[in-house]
Amino acid sequence: MLTTREEVMSRLYKIGSGAAAMGAIHVLTLLLSWYVQVIDGTEKYVQGLVSPYGTMMSLIGGALAGVGVILIHFIKGLRSMKNVLGVSIILGGILATISPIYSYWFWLLELSSYSRFDLGFFAAVFTGVILLAIGALAILTPIREEVISTAFTAVPPAAPEFLEAGMAAPSPPRPATTKLVPASDVEEAICSICFDFISEGEAVRCSNCDALFHRGCIESWVSVNGICPSCKAIVMES
Ligand SMILES: [Zn+2]
Ligand SMILES: [Zn+2]
Repeated sequence: MLTTREEVMSRLYKIGSGAAAMGAIHVLTLLLSWYVQVIDGTEKYVQGLVSPYGTMMSLIGGALAGVGVILIHFIKGLRSMKNVLGVSIILGGILATISPIYSYWFWLLELSSYSRFDLGFFAAVFTGVILLAIGALAILTPIREEVISTAFTAVPPAAPEFLEAGMAAPSPPRPATTKLVPASDVEEAICSICFDFISEGEAVRCSNCDALFHRGCIESWVSVNGICPSCKAIVMES
């Protein structure tokens, strides 16, 4: 499971650049011989780019496969990113796969009925099918719904002096459990969940990290997540 935005984005960029490369390879198959035409007993090799349909569909398909990785620069949400990427790659893959098949039936067979597929035909179909698989991979990239804002960071990053010395930063003791205690002493505070003022008598404190919440806010939070939103300690029934 990918957990951070960075992990998801790096996965999407890898998928996107893989698709762009595969789209380019597909376009290059236009240079190969897609079909062998048999005219009066002599064989004539037909390059993909001789077919106007094949050339057009393969160029558009290859471009669509590569455009997704550029498009996701302009999109904020991870979900829309992977969908735009996946859909553009799949559309490119469909065009790339259909291209050599379509131009065989609707172009080559019109010219001569004695012809067969050559290596380039299979290369073109194969790269198209790979694009379809890459597109599916983009769509199926798991994204955990971010329910918690990044303001709640549980573990501080390792101090630079530890990193320089090559020492392992002392891992902060992982708070196992916590209890929610009424904080009747608090007169003025901000709720760490809704960022609104907490009036007297309404405050509840996390005994582990001392974060303050509205009673209602933290109760509905804990009933869903079971942990303190601030320190991530498991909230025990008190
Ligand atoms: Zn609140
Ligand atoms: Zn806490």
